[in-house]
Amino acid sequence: MGLPYFACLCNIKHLARSPKQGWTRLLPRMCLYHCANCGKSQLFLQQAADEALARNTGLSKLPKN
Ligand SMILES: [Zn+2]
Repeated sequence: MGLPYFACLCNIKHLARSPKQGWTRLLPRMCLYHCANCGKSQLFLQQAADEALARNTGLSKLPKN
């Protein structure tokens, strides 16, 4: 818990980036995501969401060195 991108309690793998809405340009570091599982739109820090998605898509399984 405490991870903002788990706002809808679905697995993060369901998250897909949504097209930028006009109002999100007011928040340049934020990015709008859409959960394909429950349909909820969520706003996350783009860097945090990208890192979490990268970890969940197998990059963490790469050799450490
Ligand atoms: Zn969801």
